[in-house]
Amino acid sequence: MAEQQNDTIAYLNGNWAPLSESVVPINTHALQYGTGCFEGIRGYWDGEQVNVLFMREHFERLASNAKMLMMKSPSVDEMCQIAIDAIKKNDIKSNCYLRPVVYKGSFELSPDLINPEDHYMCYVLPLGDYLDTSKGLEVCVSSWTRLGDNAIPTRAKATGGYMNSSLAKTEAVLNGYDEAIVLNEWGQVAEGSAENIFLVRDGVLITPDKTAGILEGITRQSIIGLAEELGYKVEERPVARTELYRADECFLVGTGCQVSWVKTIDRREIGSGQRGAVSEAIQEAYENAVYGRDASKSSWLSPVK
Ligand code: PMP
Repeated sequence: MAEQQNDTIAYLNGNWAPLSESVVPINTHALQYGTGCFEGIRGYWDGEQVNVLFMREHFERLASNAKMLMMKSPSVDEMCQIAIDAIKKNDIKSNCYLRPVVYKGSFELSPDLINPEDHYMCYVLPLGDYLDTSKGLEVCVSSWTRLGDNAIPTRAKATGGYMNSSLAKTEAVLNGYDEAIVLNEWGQVAEGSAENIFLVRDGVLITPDKTAGILEGITRQSIIGLAEELGYKVEERPVARTELYRADECFLVGTGCQVSWVKTIDRREIGSGQRGAVSEAIQEAYENAVYGRDASKSSWLSPVK
């Protein structure tokens, strides 16, 4: 796998080269200070072609986050084309994952975002499931607090901000859990280390609102739409920690984890400890959409021809 990954042809500042040769100097601003922002985008193999999920939405988010962080990305159209070229050049015939990054690529000592040059990279890797979506996740509430909007905005998907996710995920794994749920600066539920979270209580879906210190997840938004189409009411509102333990169902959503149902939180069984009916309906609807089996969701997918 590692060998295969190093053979990937990657895009870096206008050049295509194997990943192993696509390197940045050790004094790069983004390496020193985490001054970048990125995306994670999935492509699904339908047996004939790769379909990139929410491609434009991801690159629009990247362009807008780069702007917030005083970086300039290539245009959305250019980034879409580079992503398609990456899949084609690597002749990808499986599910895959694209990782585009806008970052400060020059060598200034000062951490400011004004002077360093903006660079852009994008590479693609074959990728199956990030979390095991079948068996039910065992998650914990992290002792690490989610970054605040006035510290490093989670909304920005900033490279440096992922130390916060790394600490939460590491603690969870070292303590025998699959994933962590982080609380925000007000002690309310924010999200997973790299996923948004939904609870189900009395048939209603509940998810923290966009001011809760979360990433404005593209999957989250699509799940809200799917749930409403399926006839469920969705509430976006502050979520207290102990609502987690009272939930009938809980699931995490994101590009990586897709829809992953939660079996226990802090060793307390959620509902019956089995995948609940709502989680199942949402997971199925999502899978049908991303694998191109639901014609009404064809706008979610960009086929790579
Ligand atoms: N929250 C965080 C912190 C994430 O890193 C991710 C993954 N990008 C998500 C939520 C899910 O976002 P999306 O559905 O846009 O992948």
